[in-house]
Amino acid sequence: HAKMNGNSNLSNSKPKPVNLTETVQRARDAFSRGVTRPIEWRRQQLKALMRMYQENKQAMIEALRQDLRRSKMEAVLLEVDFLINDLANTLHYLDEWVKPEKPPKGLVNLLDEVVVYNDPYGVALVIGAWNYPLQLLLLPVAGAIAAGNAVVMKPSELAVASAQFIAEMVPKYLDNDAVVVIEGGPQETSELLQQKFDYIFYTGSTSVGKIVYEAATKNLTPLTLELGGKSPVYIDNTADIEVTTKRILWGKFINVGQTCIAPDYILCSKEVQEKFVQIAKKVLKEWYGDDPQKSPDLCRIINSRHFSRLQTLVDASKDKVVIGGKSDPKDRFIEPTILANVLPTDKIMEDEIFGPILPILPIENAYEAIKFINEREKPLVLYAFSKNKEVLNSIIENTSSGGMCINDTVMQMGVETLPFGGVGNSGLGAYHGKATFDTFTHKKSCLIKNFSAIGEKLASGRYPPYSEGKLTYI
Ligand code: NAD
Repeated sequence: HAKMNGNSNLSNSKPKPVNLTETVQRARDAFSRGVTRPIEWRRQQLKALMRMYQENKQAMIEALRQDLRRSKMEAVLLEVDFLINDLANTLHYLDEWVKPEKPPKGLVNLLDEVVVYNDPYGVALVIGAWNYPLQLLLLPVAGAIAAGNAVVMKPSELAVASAQFIAEMVPKYLDNDAVVVIEGGPQETSELLQQKFDYIFYTGSTSVGKIVYEAATKNLTPLTLELGGKSPVYIDNTADIEVTTKRILWGKFINVGQTCIAPDYILCSKEVQEKFVQIAKKVLKEWYGDDPQKSPDLCRIINSRHFSRLQTLVDASKDKVVIGGKSDPKDRFIEPTILANVLPTDKIMEDEIFGPILPILPIENAYEAIKFINEREKPLVLYAFSKNKEVLNSIIENTSSGGMCINDTVMQMGVETLPFGGVGNSGLGAYHGKATFDTFTHKKSCLIKNFSAIGEKLASGRYPPYSEGKLTYI
């Protein structure tokens, strides 16, 4: 098995495809030959993917350690086991999902069959992000295969070891014509987007999402965009503040905030802010010790460009730091940092933070929170903590976001039956569980008639010459 170490030449063992067009064409030919349609092929590929996970758990954990200094616990919980569970679920329900649907039919179609076939689109392109480099790429890939598509996948070039792992392992386990990996960054992705695909699934930033959307219009290619944005948290005065604080801190500091559904900022009253900061100090010390840089549980920032971006944000808010604030560029480490009394006009409120900095903005009440949220782009997730059902309902009914999680953070991701995705600037479409299968499936409607004499007689009223009598008869 692959031994992952920084500069190993894993991908040299197999020459990179010289010609991107040829690789995509190979996938298209495989689809056209009907390779990917049979359920047996899909099941066999998904089982091979399961073997790839089971036999290379250690290599996956190691790749994530190299890319993000991810702890084993977070690697297993948020990527390896996440992939395995989703795949087990897909394998379990595959036969049921694939079955043509028989919607209800009216009297006129009593003698006919009315069917919706679950048709694959063709060749799907899946583009991944670096922050959960295995899960965000391979979860949609599994769904695309389950739905009978050929797949071209492009891992993020910024998570180097994970991209190498994928480029090395996928050809070893999966069909080399129908499921292919293309490595590279923006330039290769731009070239890829020149090709014709039947479906595009993109995870990443909103700005690049717009580039992908524009490229897709050329061939009217349907697509899913899993994007980001600033996911707000509202804490009500009635919330259990101990539990609330822990749940928010965990969701924020896994992967040191480099999570699309991480709480971006908190809206709460001054009193709640004070309690939150007090408890957070105690909890962070319990979790990460006196010197968080020494904690084995905190990840590192993906690269120096992102480190500098985050450092600038901390520097711009120096006077508002109430916890943390230290950093070390050599180690790309930024301490869990909390900012209090932040203003909507502060720099930290401009863009998605995507790092371990958590600003708190004091507000008066839920209505002010709703107004604040509705004045900005639609978030990927909206978090609200309260014991008051009326307050919660009012937030649910009066705001728009990709999804919501009440009285917790991030855990909504693990609910297989909840479709996951954004709305507006945070994305288009959704996946997870059956929603992934449906995403990569075209619902092909079909009316099936026969030539029975009675059927023809019943329907013959439609033929000319037309008359008023025939109209009432039909
Ligand atoms: P990114 O948009 O920079 O990169 C994503 C992919 O696009 C990479 O594979 C990259 O090679 C490619 N790419 C980059 N620039 C390109 C260009 N100019 N033309 C064509 N392709 C290009 O995003 P990222 O930095 O990897 O991820 C961070 C963002 O992704 C955050 O905003 C985060 O919220 C979001 N995100 C969303 C989800 C979700 O499920 N909704 C999950 C993870 C991350």
